Amino acid sequence: MDLTLLEQTLRERGEPAFRARQVWEWTARGATGYAAMTNLPRALREDLTAAVPFSTLSVEAERESRDGTLKTLFRTGDGHPVEAVLMRYRDGRRSLCLSSQSGCPLTCTFCATGAMSFGRNLTASEILDQALHFRRVTEVDHAVFMGMGEPMLNLDEVLAAARRLPDLGITHRRTTISTVGWLPGLRRFVDEVDQPIRLALSLHAADDELRSRIMPVNERYPVADVVAECRRHAELTRRRVFVEYVMLGGVNDAPEQARALAGLLGRDHFKVNLIPYNPWAASAGGKAADARPNTPPTAAGGLFEGSSRERIAAFRHELERAHVPVTVRLTRGRDIEAACGQLAAAPKPRRRRSAAPVG
Ligand code: SAH
Repeated sequence: MDLTLLEQTLRERGEPAFRARQVWEWTARGATGYAAMTNLPRALREDLTAAVPFSTLSVEAERESRDGTLKTLFRTGDGHPVEAVLMRYRDGRRSLCLSSQSGCPLTCTFCATGAMSFGRNLTASEILDQALHFRRVTEVDHAVFMGMGEPMLNLDEVLAAARRLPDLGITHRRTTISTVGWLPGLRRFVDEVDQPIRLALSLHAADDELRSRIMPVNERYPVADVVAECRRHAELTRRRVFVEYVMLGGVNDAPEQARALAGLLGRDHFKVNLIPYNPWAASAGGKAADARPNTPPTAAGGLFEGSSRERIAAFRHELERAHVPVTVRLTRGRDIEAACGQLAAAPKPRRRRSAAPVG
């Protein structure tokens, strides 16, 4: 829901100030439309239905993984694709993976989003509407800004959305913003954000030479500067920064590279998350969604192979020996290209594959 338009519409109708809050409270709790908002006058509900679309996004396709992961492809009002994911875990956790941009202007070589064309920054309402869509399916309690896009390139809108997530049931401590280390945004995040929102850094290599090769953004903001800024955040907040490290076979997964990573990070300020590489197909213009599960990727995606289990275990062991906290991320939704780095919507509208959208 376009919250600016909502407020403007209510103001123009001369409604009391509390109306916007009433509408938001219903929406944040999973209402499926204005009709459900029974403490609003009927005429107002009808006017709002006509004047303020209930979502800024339309659902174009939805796929459910064997593991219960749900991936939704949305379109903005002006036709840009946006994907977001709901992960449902056995222990009851319900985690959302949200997009901050349609596409991404950075071109990390292992990421499917980086291979599609960049659309634009999303508004706070467009980010919230991703979350609200899943809130109408189930209760939710975690969110990560690890979908399409670089959150630090769109920080104001990302923060405006993140600040409302507690109303949906997602506290700031359970909200994580992930970045490549885009320093202008990252500095502002460290200096300005008072809420205990968590920070994650996509590092993937401990030295500039390799990191620049796989993440061109490193030419601009080198490893030492980015890690120093994250360390400053950890010191200020007394909370560890997560470090994401995607395991690329024969590229960044050698034991000596683990030792270099441990030396760079130290034992006090970071927690490393090793991410199994998720393959994607870059043929036909990055149409990852058309790839079959586990087929060998082609073109850009095929530059990489995931590290073997043994290599991941050995890498992990080196970090543990150096007393750096480390976990290996569980991959979810791989069979529907919903896993990390696989979000890349085809440029043209695709056929809807699932049942009717909720809400
Ligand atoms: N731009 C932000 C937000 C995207 S997060 C960032 O880079 O942090 C997406 C996470 O998935 C990042 O850590 C990214 O490096 C990782 N990723 C990208 N492609 C991947 C792939 N093919 N397999 C596994 N992880 C991948």
